[in-house]
Amino acid sequence: MKARIGLEIHVQLTSLKTKLFCRCSADYRGAPPNTHVCPVCLGLPGALPVVNRKAVEHAIAVCLALNGEVADELVFERKHYFYPDLPKNYQITQYSKPICRGGYVEIEVRGRAKRVRIRRINLEEDPGRLVYPTGSPLTSPYSLVDYNRSGVALLEIVTEPDMEEPEEAAAFLEKLRSILEHLGVCDCGLEGAMRVDANVSVEGGERVEVKNIGSVSEVERALRYEIVRQASLLRQGGRVRRETRHWDPARKVTVPARAKEYEEDYRYMPDPNLPPVPIPAELVEKIRAQLPELPDERVKRLVSEYGIDRRTARVLVYTAKALADFFEDVVRLYPRDPQRTANYIVNDLLGWLKDEDLKPLYTRVRPEHVAKVMRMLDEGLISIRQAKELAEHIVKHGADPADLVEKLGMRRIADEERLRRVVEEVFRENPKAVRDALRKPKAVNFLVGMVMRKTRGQADPQLTRRLVEEMLEAVREGRLSLP
Ligand SMILES: [Zn+2]
Repeated sequence: MKARIGLEIHVQLTSLKTKLFCRCSADYRGAPPNTHVCPVCLGLPGALPVVNRKAVEHAIAVCLALNGEVADELVFERKHYFYPDLPKNYQITQYSKPICRGGYVEIEVRGRAKRVRIRRINLEEDPGRLVYPTGSPLTSPYSLVDYNRSGVALLEIVTEPDMEEPEEAAAFLEKLRSILEHLGVCDCGLEGAMRVDANVSVEGGERVEVKNIGSVSEVERALRYEIVRQASLLRQGGRVRRETRHWDPARKVTVPARAKEYEEDYRYMPDPNLPPVPIPAELVEKIRAQLPELPDERVKRLVSEYGIDRRTARVLVYTAKALADFFEDVVRLYPRDPQRTANYIVNDLLGWLKDEDLKPLYTRVRPEHVAKVMRMLDEGLISIRQAKELAEHIVKHGADPADLVEKLGMRRIADEERLRRVVEEVFRENPKAVRDALRKPKAVNFLVGMVMRKTRGQADPQLTRRLVEEMLEAVREGRLSLP
């Protein structure tokens, strides 16, 4: 079932030290409530906003990285509504002239490339936050409000409804997150740093807005649910009305929001405290010239510089900037066979991380650890299977792999003489299997398997096979006799 999906993403500019219109610290996470506040972000009478220049520069960089057109002047407007987290009763945002218009992001789903167009990007302030003593508005006897977030710089990125399936929306968000991380403007893994609303419609129905979606994988889930819900409503002869719904991640359904069936009138008006300021073309060009390496270029570079395949390079870069950084750190320490290193990170280490949470990888696992595993492989100290086994311990306990190998008794038996004795033992204990193997080449596997079992997987499989075959040859020629 094809759908039309558009996204509206709120991104905090978490790299800024201060808020958008005052000097309060923007690093509010974990701070006691209402400690990062001042008359400006509390909306006290007479307090005047002053625009954070860095925030404007960051917004311009995002616009350019998304191939958009930067406005020639900075215009702020007031959007009026009443809610306790908004002390001024209006939000300073952009309406008639967003800082960025147009642009696009290239995505790729199942090998098919596609452009998702950007409609606009607004620079605006974040409201405060309601805090419920029980964690839920439904069961709390009262609510509290924390204005630490009030006034934090926010980008509202609005796409055209160019996506046709949930996977495309997920691919878009993944790419966007990677671009923002490479620009260094948003640490999107922080709670609430990237918030997504989606609008979705299927043919014959009206547009439904789904709010409150937490992570990228939740977006995919919420959209999939919503598309099936709308399609089956229409199939049963019902109609899909225009409404706002909330995603309930616990029950994995969308539920109607306390409905507003009309377009709200926000009475937008220019903010008289913030008259329009020209954005000089020279500033835009300066920022363009200083744009860092972006994800698409980085994928190309990883492929050409390290000779790794494009699929793996994409996983490294689009999963998180820090993951690609991690890979390059390891390769710098141990440059041999980057493809094997990339595979190990993507297939083995990532597999032990849960729920898209990559933090353990950067906090517990050090690039030196992975470099050491690669070196031990090359030195024949451990087998590939043992390297895979080490991955779990490295991710879960952050231990040094050299210590782990000792502790887990993992040293591979690459010593030919020692292994030959084990093979002889196996031959003596399994004369019937040896006779089978002399007739059927397939039965050789059984003997190899017995050697592996006797050495608890520490024997080198290729060496084992060679020794088994040599010894079969010796039996065949009568140089070795069986009991
Ligand atoms: Zn303030």
